[in-house]
Amino acid sequence: MSIKVVKFGGSSLADAGQIKKASAIIKSDADRRYVVPSAPGKRFPEDVKVTDLLYACYEKASLGEDFSQEFEKIRSRYNEIIEGLGLDLSLDEQLGQIRKSLATAGREYAASRGEYLNGIVIAAYLGYTFIDAADVIVFSDEGQMMRHETVAKLREHLRGVEHAVIPGFYGKSVSGVVRTFSRGGSDVTGSLVARAVHADVYENWTDVSGILVADPRVVDSPIVIPVITYKELRELSYMGFSVLHEDAIFPVRTAGIPINIRNTNAPGDDGTMIVPDSDAAEEVAARTITGIAGKKGFCAVNIEKGMMNSEIGFIRDVLNVFADLGISVEHIPSGIDTLTIIADSASLNGKEEKMLSALRKAVNPDHLEFEPDIAMLAVVGRGMRRTRGTAARIFAALAHGRINIKMIDQGSSELNIIIGVNENDLHQAIRCIYDAFISSTL
Ligand code: ASP
Repeated sequence: MSIKVVKFGGSSLADAGQIKKASAIIKSDADRRYVVPSAPGKRFPEDVKVTDLLYACYEKASLGEDFSQEFEKIRSRYNEIIEGLGLDLSLDEQLGQIRKSLATAGREYAASRGEYLNGIVIAAYLGYTFIDAADVIVFSDEGQMMRHETVAKLREHLRGVEHAVIPGFYGKSVSGVVRTFSRGGSDVTGSLVARAVHADVYENWTDVSGILVADPRVVDSPIVIPVITYKELRELSYMGFSVLHEDAIFPVRTAGIPINIRNTNAPGDDGTMIVPDSDAAEEVAARTITGIAGKKGFCAVNIEKGMMNSEIGFIRDVLNVFADLGISVEHIPSGIDTLTIIADSASLNGKEEKMLSALRKAVNPDHLEFEPDIAMLAVVGRGMRRTRGTAARIFAALAHGRINIKMIDQGSSELNIIIGVNENDLHQAIRCIYDAFISSTL
């Protein structure tokens, strides 16, 4: 029998109706043995997540202000859920305790209670064992999750437990203080549980039917990616795809466990499988391109100097200028006598003149030019390695769309092609590539 760890996000558990859907999903497959819930999320766009209500309570409590209004909203959300599920359960004792400790136990303790209470409710509804994340997710006193200790604790507590609910998002430090991950951190808890029980798959249930090939705000109804490798996901995440909490990848990736992104509101959809990089994954690459992502907020510094290639240490001297000023360098495309530094505009932060004059002093260039407002675009696909002419198709599509290309960089893995364009051209560029590789094949 295989083991599935299932994590449900806040919108999948926002009210009793959603929790019923999640339970039906859990109960429909005997392999779904360990459940990691988030706190109740938004029921409608203007709604407030329980976690945000808890943060608001804490802010007030820590200033000595009255937080009853927010607190009562939290109480009534859980009471509605309990009633809607027809449970004979009262959280009065826990809520009383939380109310008392709110100001003193810290901001992270406050935030964590959303998952804690939801975990109790869901465990009762499913008839599963409730395991407090404070007993199994270990943080250092500095707030770093300790993976080794956590996996060991999880194994110890889950040994012999057939079915359990382990709330997401929080744990406890070595000296006994409740700590949380950053926002969205229930993904990390799910990943750690999957790792600890050697799950065959980590299912992450959310409100979309998988990862889309491109941003739906840019491309009209983009298709879902059926299978993506961890490496491809990393490339796309760097360029702005936000799918899972960043720290959720490592525990399962290193153990070779796939993640399946699924939709609680459309459980019949296969969703997206995120799989380890392997030959088998290469073979199921139905398309040349897996995904297209883009990000604004870069700038380019073009440096030109005759015979720069013969000046040993030239690139080092250039990079030292950026390092000394704390400017993050993202790409370094180069020609024979030219070098471009693509940097992150946010870290440039008003230091443009300083940087240019330091460069003049350091390497005495023949020509120096600064271009703000650059966007980067990543075309990612493990299928590119075996398909000739991909670059030609990408650039033909961009030329057709009259897009001026500022920079091209192909990673050595042949997994992605990175293209620099003007920020104003970014969306059009993504659409041109989507049309050329995806729309034309549908
Ligand atoms: N409830 C937390 C948040 O809103 C954690 C999570 O949902 O993963 O960020």
